[in-house]
Amino acid sequence: MRTRVNDYNNPMPSRVRSQRVEAIVLRHVDWGEADRLLWLFTRQLGKIQVVAKGVRKPRSRKAGHLEPFTRVELLLAHGRDLPIVTQAEAKDAYLALREDLVRMGYASYVIELLDRFTYEEGENVALFRLLAETLSRLNDETQPAFAVRYYEVRLLDLVGFRPQLLHCVNCGEEIKAEDQYFSFDKGGVICPKCGLKEPGVRPVSLPALKILRHFQRSAYAEAQRARLSATVDLELENLMGYYLTYLLERGLNTPSFLRRVRNLTTSEE
Ligand SMILES: [Zn+2]
Repeated sequence: MRTRVNDYNNPMPSRVRSQRVEAIVLRHVDWGEADRLLWLFTRQLGKIQVVAKGVRKPRSRKAGHLEPFTRVELLLAHGRDLPIVTQAEAKDAYLALREDLVRMGYASYVIELLDRFTYEEGENVALFRLLAETLSRLNDETQPAFAVRYYEVRLLDLVGFRPQLLHCVNCGEEIKAEDQYFSFDKGGVICPKCGLKEPGVRPVSLPALKILRHFQRSAYAEAQRARLSATVDLELENLMGYYLTYLLERGLNTPSFLRRVRNLTTSEE
């Protein structure tokens, strides 16, 4: 009996003999004697799993190009179960992420979130770009936390969990310029009037809400005009951390197309 890696549709149909892809290495595990299984997020095929043969041999030329966080250009060949890496050339190793523990921690968090919020479901160029740009920002910028807070907001958007920040998710009233509450369950801001009666909501300060709204509507260059104080950064780190964990525990076994269908129907009401 032949062993299959998992029940998974090969992203390269057998009529495609080989394909060039641009990818970011999410993670890998050792496989067999000298091989590795890699999870990649590619520009062309979205998230895929591939095999890199022989990369654990000391003289492997591909090995150094296939470390986690690396942006790499690959040639993939059709394999029986999974595509096989036949060529690999690192385009960006993001060296600062490997030399600085704080940056490495942020990069691991960014990669893990993307990995856990996505399925092997085909091309998603917007997500690929967000990931590649966020790793570059973490690598280059003096305030890596800023890039991560921005990433959280944009990621929620792209995986179908864009929080409602303009109207109370309970009564529908427009949100006013004052401290508010946030409901994980209802996916957005709750006004102070409703918040007092709603169990399980978390407070969100006006300055933190302003940042969230600004990030939600702005490209990065525009987003950078905002100043993120240490206090607001900490508040958002906690709020988004809890919210993302909540979503992951609750919803991620649901196929994402179902989430999207649900979002479509609620936004049409
Ligand atoms: Zn309300």
